[in-house]
Amino acid sequence: MVEEQLAPRGITDPRVLDAMGAVPRHLFVESALADRAYEDRALPIGERQTISQPYIVALMSQALGLTGAERVLEVGTGSGYQAAILARLAARVFTVERVKGLADRARATFDRLKVYDVVIKHFDGTFGWPEEAPFDAIMVTAGSPAVPEPLIAQLKEGGRLVAPVGDRNGQRLQRVVKRGGALHVMPLTDCAFVPLIGSYGWRTDRGTPPDPAVRDAAR
Ligand code: SAM
Repeated sequence: MVEEQLAPRGITDPRVLDAMGAVPRHLFVESALADRAYEDRALPIGERQTISQPYIVALMSQALGLTGAERVLEVGTGSGYQAAILARLAARVFTVERVKGLADRARATFDRLKVYDVVIKHFDGTFGWPEEAPFDAIMVTAGSPAVPEPLIAQLKEGGRLVAPVGDRNGQRLQRVVKRGGALHVMPLTDCAFVPLIGSYGWRTDRGTPPDPAVRDAAR
């Protein structure tokens, strides 16, 4: 996966490549899908949600420019795979999931893999995690009409945020840097994530296509 899919597509950060090589993606999907876990595609994880495509996980991780010292917020825990990657790249990861069954399962996976630097909260992550803010970096792993305002407020000066922004069918992955109180936005790639449902995202999950396995794929 690292040599054939990620490096050739422009993932150059050696720490990100190491993390992607070290975290066993097959343990974050149902056993029936384990033999497809290292294909470069999103896979269903139940609850009409997905584990994102490895290339997108690596691209978003690289975009945060982590050195190992950071406190990172992830919105959209899903399977926990992205959080486990972030745990290898940063000091502490705070991840929020709105579907309780997924949060519980991710917590069990972290216990099994002895991933200790991640804390999960079952909540509407569009509010961020005010008690633990501010964050050096924030990652949103569901598509939103705009970056939720509380997340901007909880990003440190000099902090980086990456989020898919657009409509329900397609988004553009944006890298946002907060500098001098202003936001500097750089588009990374087009993508299609499941929707961010919450007070500062989409209000309902109406309109989610029936097959989430085809989503989250970079076009
Ligand atoms: N990062 C995940 C992984 O590594 O498996 C994949 C995330 S999946 C593409 C998007 C996740 O965002 C889903 O699990 C969904 O339930 C969650 N989600 C959607 N809206 C949310 C919200 N307001 N707060 C927290 N999680 C949310």
